[in-house]
Amino acid sequence: MLLHPLPWPTGKRLAASITFDVDADSLIRNARPDDGHLRLHPVTMGRYGPTVAVPRILDTWQRFGIRQTFFMPAWVMETYPATVEAILKGGHEIGHHSWRHEDPLGHSDDREAELFGRAMDTHVRMTGTKPRGYRAPVYNATPAIIGRLIDEGFLYDSSLMADEIPYLMRHPKGEIIELPPHWGADDWPPFAHFEEIGYLMPVRAPSDGIRAFQEEYAAMHAAGGFFMPVLHPFLTGRLARWAAMEAWLAPLVEAGDTWFAPLEEIAAHAARHRDLLRVDTIAEGDPA
Ligand SMILES: [Zn+2]
Repeated sequence: MLLHPLPWPTGKRLAASITFDVDADSLIRNARPDDGHLRLHPVTMGRYGPTVAVPRILDTWQRFGIRQTFFMPAWVMETYPATVEAILKGGHEIGHHSWRHEDPLGHSDDREAELFGRAMDTHVRMTGTKPRGYRAPVYNATPAIIGRLIDEGFLYDSSLMADEIPYLMRHPKGEIIELPPHWGADDWPPFAHFEEIGYLMPVRAPSDGIRAFQEEYAAMHAAGGFFMPVLHPFLTGRLARWAAMEAWLAPLVEAGDTWFAPLEEIAAHAARHRDLLRVDTIAEGDPA
């Protein structure tokens, strides 16, 4: 059972958004600012995401007739403008995912705010609108960032984990909807192998790796919850993994009782049911 269930639109048992973080080669360039551009293995492993995997994923969404959410560092948007164009053409949402995947805690608040603003400018210039949602690199949202999202009029954050369905975050600056991710539905643990950033895990077979998502979905379907895997095109968008994902998702889309929607629509729905949401309070943090 869920402690704070939400009513979903008529005929829908649960809400789902298969989200992708299009990090591309921002990961290695940010992790190794001095020589990342010379490390062609991780550069090309990342570049595969926006150039090969995203078109494959977009093709699936088009055949399914659904719109979903992509989070992009603004540096990736500027480096791969055709990918941005293709995502927008499909009617999908693009959320704010930092400037170049910098860890928010790796900079002073001022520098972080400057890079955040630079990314906002890119979004407005390339998509024609301010982003409605934000996901922090490695989920590392700080109290200052939550405050900034509220100041900037963001509808939702998708980085924090105080519940498993949409909830309300209360911060000294106001309130914002949280659409919570979780490591159990993230594709780094089963599929990533990235020596340069210290991430060495045994890579699982596609059917093994996506079993975690299937079990998460089954529990959310039974309880009437919210299913939001956090995927990366360079990982789950690879041929065999994506074929397995597509074969699994097709009958779920067909069944019709899952509300597949971009996060901004799910967050807007949650905001309309604000009184039912669980409230989590974020303190501003200890003063320096
Ligand atoms: Zn990311």
